[in-house]
Amino acid sequence: MAIVSMCVLSSLPLMSMDTRKKTEVIIVHHSATSGGSVETIRRYHKEVNKWEDIGYHYVITNGNGGKDGVVHAGRSEELTGAHAGKGRNQNSLGVCLIGNDTFTEKQIEALTKHLATLCVKHKITPSAKTIQRHHEECPGNGIDLDKVIQKVKELMAEKS
Ligand SMILES: [Zn+2]
Repeated sequence: MAIVSMCVLSSLPLMSMDTRKKTEVIIVHHSATSGGSVETIRRYHKEVNKWEDIGYHYVITNGNGGKDGVVHAGRSEELTGAHAGKGRNQNSLGVCLIGNDTFTEKQIEALTKHLATLCVKHKITPSAKTIQRHHEECPGNGIDLDKVIQKVKELMAEKS
């Protein structure tokens, strides 16, 4: 689980959990572990990073430590997360895919649907500006985020 800290290294430790004032962006991460769950990440963020709670708002499990393609709630959605470094947490939600270099089809499908739900809920127009990677290596090469964003747009068009 050591690599998890790399993903969130830029986050401010010991930051108290405030209510986030706006939600304009959704940031996609990966755990950089082959398996895991909201519980294993929560434990790591609390015990190792010494945070008050898990830094991500959502975790999508991959069948190794949690059911494949299931979205689990992490930190309460209205609270500021600890996942993307100073400044970026203030207006964003953090979603973490469990996995290293590859993700399952079910995870990508669950992510796509969940992003569409969050975009509708928070009145976010899906684009490369509003649905972002954490950074170049997170969530890694196992996901084509442009393709996911396109699919989110299609889903939202179907429902409107
Ligand atoms: Zn990340």
